[in-house]
Amino acid sequence: MLSNSLIELDRAHLVHPVASWRGHEKAGVRMLTAAKGATVTDATGHTLIDGFAGLWCVNAGYGQDSVIEAATTQLRELPYATGYFGLGSEPPIRLAARLADHAPGDLNHVYFTLGGSDAVDSTVRFARYYWNARGLPQKDQFISLEQGYHGSSTVGAGLTALPVFHAGFGLPMDWQHKIPSHYSYRNPMGSDPAAITAASVAQLRAKVEELGGAERVAAFYAEPIQGSGGVLVPPPGWMAAMRAVCTELDILFVADEVITGFGRTGPMFACAEEGIVPDMLTCAKGLTSGYVPMGAVFLSDRMYQTIADHAGAAAIGHGFTYSAHPVSAAVGLAVLDLYEGGLLENGRAMGARLQAGLAGLADHPLVGEVRGRGMLAAVELVTDKAAKTPLPAAALPSQRIFDRAWANGLVIRAFGNGVLGYAPPLCCTEAEIDAIVERTLLTLDQTLEDPDVR
Ligand code: PMP
Repeated sequence: MLSNSLIELDRAHLVHPVASWRGHEKAGVRMLTAAKGATVTDATGHTLIDGFAGLWCVNAGYGQDSVIEAATTQLRELPYATGYFGLGSEPPIRLAARLADHAPGDLNHVYFTLGGSDAVDSTVRFARYYWNARGLPQKDQFISLEQGYHGSSTVGAGLTALPVFHAGFGLPMDWQHKIPSHYSYRNPMGSDPAAITAASVAQLRAKVEELGGAERVAAFYAEPIQGSGGVLVPPPGWMAAMRAVCTELDILFVADEVITGFGRTGPMFACAEEGIVPDMLTCAKGLTSGYVPMGAVFLSDRMYQTIADHAGAAAIGHGFTYSAHPVSAAVGLAVLDLYEGGLLENGRAMGARLQAGLAGLADHPLVGEVRGRGMLAAVELVTDKAAKTPLPAAALPSQRIFDRAWANGLVIRAFGNGVLGYAPPLCCTEAEIDAIVERTLLTLDQTLEDPDVR
């Protein structure tokens, strides 16, 4: 039962991430108390389909016995082992080896972190180590995309392109630069895929020139699908074209697969279907399916060997107490067993069903665009389809739509002024996918009746 005292304790003591503190105090916490498979139950006993898998992380679904068993066994046997001082433990060694097998190309070296933000931070360190090792310390400028999200740490937040992550923090730093997103629905270059890709290539080249040429640029970052920017899917071949520019100019290409990894878009990693091998790849979320925290950076053979040779006997000055945590790694291994044992396959089938179901909403008067791939999708709402007019910001449409969907038994993410985000667990059944679509339609019909949102 939800007790008022818990709401009061939350108000008084718990600081929530990316929230208006005053707004949260006013609204009070909405507590979840249980979850199983693709459903969650709130403290009032209301059961919902979790169409967003927590925070796009519970890819394997809730309550998987094998995962719980693996964590419990590891907690009993060895709850902690440091990776410092040449020490280690079995689960992260086995997990690193299995991940290297799944990773594209020669991304054979795995550095474990606690989540996505510190994975991104680690890539900045490794990039600097690499260029220093190559005798090119002046390659210290970093480029990422508008609408991109690369975490909330002080460094990563500067690569992130959301203004609310920058204001008042002196961000982005003077070595962090952006080029426009490929966002095809609202792209000044129009919606032709080839023109969008050509424009991105030209913008990257121009930014490199502006920064003093490739001899100044360390790395370029891209998500295979921009997640927090509103599930923005690049044109086919866009990633490969950007990778090619980086290869030609000798700039590191970092693929941030924190959301897209572990079957979210179909394959284990989205880079595989793009046919590219980045120099570094970051992941988190689906790595442990959110059961415990963990992230990782995959490094190419070339980067690893160059850094290692240069440092020789000296330590690489980068590490966390909880790097390669044995319990997180044991969970990672159990989750990987599930992915390999049919969950990825189910996710691909359910992803096709989700995309088709949502595409069927395209004629709804409020729907401007439906986009996505696999179990990752967005529906962008507008009040005028031809003019692509966003819903009025003053009506806080996203909060209203989120609340309405919740009442209809569906958890979604509502971005900005009415972009609905979907990232359901890969274990969803056909009936659950169909219910996600039906409950979305009901929510849209109710929104259409809402005079404040029109
Ligand atoms: N990169 C991407 C692409 C992300 O989507 C996120 C989180 N949503 C992060 C990095 C940061 O991960 P975390 O929240 O685990 O620190």
